[in-house]
Amino acid sequence: MVQIIKGLLFNMATITSIVMFANMLMHEKHLSVNWKNNVRNGFLSGILGCILMLLSVPITDQVIIDFRCIPVILMALYVSFFAAMETALVIGIFRLGYFGVNRASLVAFGVVLLAGVACGLVGRTSLRMRTKWLLSVASVCLVTGVGIHSVLEGHPDRPYILLAYLALLAGMSTAMHFFTEYIAAFNRKIQRIREEAEVDHLTGLKTPRQFERNLKKHLAAGGLSGKGVSLLYIDIDYFKNINDRYGHSSGDLVLQELGAILKRMGRSRDIVFRKGGEEFTMLLVDCGLEQAALVAERIRKAVEEHGFQLPDHGCIHISVSIGVAALEEAPSAVDLLERADRALYRAKQAGRNQVMVAGEDGEAGRA
Ligand code: GH3
Ligand code: MG
Ligand code: MG
Repeated sequence: MVQIIKGLLFNMATITSIVMFANMLMHEKHLSVNWKNNVRNGFLSGILGCILMLLSVPITDQVIIDFRCIPVILMALYVSFFAAMETALVIGIFRLGYFGVNRASLVAFGVVLLAGVACGLVGRTSLRMRTKWLLSVASVCLVTGVGIHSVLEGHPDRPYILLAYLALLAGMSTAMHFFTEYIAAFNRKIQRIREEAEVDHLTGLKTPRQFERNLKKHLAAGGLSGKGVSLLYIDIDYFKNINDRYGHSSGDLVLQELGAILKRMGRSRDIVFRKGGEEFTMLLVDCGLEQAALVAERIRKAVEEHGFQLPDHGCIHISVSIGVAALEEAPSAVDLLERADRALYRAKQAGRNQVMVAGEDGEAGRA
């Protein structure tokens, strides 16, 4: 009996480490439900079931016990009915093919298919995950219990084996529930942190960190293709006054709306970032300096003409100053940004609500 318990615990340790390893290798997109993922996940999970059978505890020359039904539960609850049935089929066929066709393997085949149907149906309900686990574990205990009871007919230790197996199956499945929920919560947290690092919470635009990443990527691509990458450095004029006059929340609304305007005015390939505070940058892909200056002027004019609606203060108007630089003359990402920044500074110096292009005052020689 000790050997049986030891074997089953080993089985459980195997499944836990494989699930952990699978989580490391898989990304969220692998769990989204489409046919390709369904088929792949169902099959891989079936393989896990087969590994568990290879490490199973032999009871008689025909009967083996293990936790092969747990991968079925996992697929039913986290992927789909189809994936659960596929897992069950792979396990069932391997049981017949590898261990030979006999009464025990035929019963095992029926048991795993029934478990697949039961858990698959539970998985399709809109019950809470905890309830789904409870129902799935109960149905798996029921079908495997009946199966083992039938194949161990006449075995002197049948009640004890059955009791030990069902107790461990219930206990281990519950532990697996907490384990998978922990992994799911952990993954959600990572996803949220990633989103927060990549997306500015106020405007929904990309963050400065993303700016650096995208800039390097597009500079490399632009440098290779020779089509050019340009940068607009956009700063709201006298934004502090807007905060002072209308309040910080009105200032926030202006930032949000300006972000939306910039996005609307760019082409689908162009990327808008909130550089920080009331400063924005726009990466214009496949766009040379002259073209970028025209885009900047269009943006400046559009912002000047746009009425920003504030809840308690009616419609206000703002202006932006824009510095333009292009990869053509800038050897690096840092240099491109500095050149656009210097052009922006000149636009401010020249009275604001202006577009200035890098190099037009002879600064190209200094770059
Ligand atoms: P300039 O024309 O020289 O650019 O003047 P400015 O007032 O726009 O520039 P300044 O750098 O003096 O002020 C920027 C202001 O932007 C100050 C800061 O309070 C405000 N600001 C920065 N981030 C936010 C934000 O997230 N929300 C709001 N409402 N204001 C912000
Ligand atoms: Mg400003
Ligand atoms: Mg500023």
